[in-house]
Amino acid sequence: MVDCADDESETETSRMELHMSDRQIEKASVTIIRQSTFLACPHVIMMPSHYRPDGSCKCNDPAERAMMIREWGYSRSDFA
Ligand SMILES: [Zn+2]
Repeated sequence: MVDCADDESETETSRMELHMSDRQIEKASVTIIRQSTFLACPHVIMMPSHYRPDGSCKCNDPAERAMMIREWGYSRSDFA
């Protein structure tokens, strides 16, 4: 069994807490995607939902591909 020593996830979700005076008024969850993740995608899609938690893109995912063709105007030849 191979132990994966890569502890740097390509996608980090961090929690920011915003404060006003001493009272905590709001929490927001922020997803940070590294530029290297976008560059891993042949179409450089700037959508967090296009990437899996391990940082790989979904261009080879049939459902994602069908959505991209339908919603974003890509054609099948873009995925040759
Ligand atoms: Zn992609």
